[in-house]
Amino acid sequence: MKGESGKFKIMSILEVQQVPLSPVPCLTEKQKEIEEKKARKDYSGLLPAEIGTDYSFKREIVWTNAMGFLLLHLVALYGLWVMVFHCMWLTDIWAGIVAFGSGLGVTTGAHRLFSHKAYKAPFITRLVLILFHTLAGQNCLYIWVRDHRQHHKYSDTDADPHNANRGFFFSHVGWLMSRKHPAVIAKGKTIDMSDMEADWLVMFQKEHYKVLYTIFAILLPTLVPVLCWQESFYNSFFAAYMFRNVLVLNMTWLVNSAAHLYGNKPFDKYMKPVESSFVAFVSVGEGWHNYHHAFPWDYRAAEFGSKYSITTMVIDFLAWAGLAYDLKTTPYHMVQKRAERTGDGSHPIYGEHAKKLETVGKLDDKDIAEIIKSKEPGVRRLVTAQG
Ligand SMILES: [Zn+2]
Ligand SMILES: [Zn+2]
Repeated sequence: MKGESGKFKIMSILEVQQVPLSPVPCLTEKQKEIEEKKARKDYSGLLPAEIGTDYSFKREIVWTNAMGFLLLHLVALYGLWVMVFHCMWLTDIWAGIVAFGSGLGVTTGAHRLFSHKAYKAPFITRLVLILFHTLAGQNCLYIWVRDHRQHHKYSDTDADPHNANRGFFFSHVGWLMSRKHPAVIAKGKTIDMSDMEADWLVMFQKEHYKVLYTIFAILLPTLVPVLCWQESFYNSFFAAYMFRNVLVLNMTWLVNSAAHLYGNKPFDKYMKPVESSFVAFVSVGEGWHNYHHAFPWDYRAAEFGSKYSITTMVIDFLAWAGLAYDLKTTPYHMVQKRAERTGDGSHPIYGEHAKKLETVGKLDDKDIAEIIKSKEPGVRRLVTAQG
């Protein structure tokens, strides 16, 4: 007994000495290495969680951009006044149509087709969607797609161009009037854009963006009312270009700001994006953002909201007309599994189960997409989500 108790005593001393000595210095070394890398602005090899958000980082404001955006919004407000009190009603309807078309160019084209490859489309569809995207005036498709892919890959960290941890204003418009964080610059260079570079339509728009912007975003929307129903150039310019353009910009920006801040997280409570029916309404179907960040390849970008999503209806219509195919969805069991394991319990069907589960961390299953509406009728198949 004496010997055994002596042995026990020796073991416990060893344990007491070993426990604090082994894991803690190891973590500290890693942390030190991460902080040193960040200080050197070397973000190579750093994971999103390691980049995080440095709240002490001081943003440098680009004053010409800030004044430009302020002026743009003031002129847009004047445009609203012109629209309400001076324009012919046909011009107002036209401004609405252009706003809707340019919005679809962003959601159906830039977002779901080009950024996420959520479906495939023949040349004619891609051409029309690029024209509609040009109408929206949100920079060329190449830059739009790169920023958006980076936003998904480094969501809500310093490497995300519109990191929502920096607040509503920054993620809405502030990021466009600030110098880029060094992490955004470093990680932006690592985004795979080979598919965009291989598409001559995309590169043509990039190359000639200023001319195309002048023709499709400014002149075309302004001249149609002037030539077709004798509206004055002045009224048409302020309604169909200035007000319409700023309205669509703000509707798009709400996806980056409000849909990352105010709402519930039925699919993944560990991420910042939320479900927002308000943003879904104003952005023609892009507000179901917790689902979208959980399953970015899904052409519906929503589960429940997909029934009322105009963008999804448009893609379904294109598929029906033979103008889109190989639509990627998410297998039902995968949505259930994710909602139960990582949701915040607010899912109307799987929520109760999720509330009862202990925290189990992120789902590490391989992302699987189910292809529907293939060119071969009746074929449904499973592929890796990025394929
Ligand atoms: Zn987002
Ligand atoms: Zn997206």
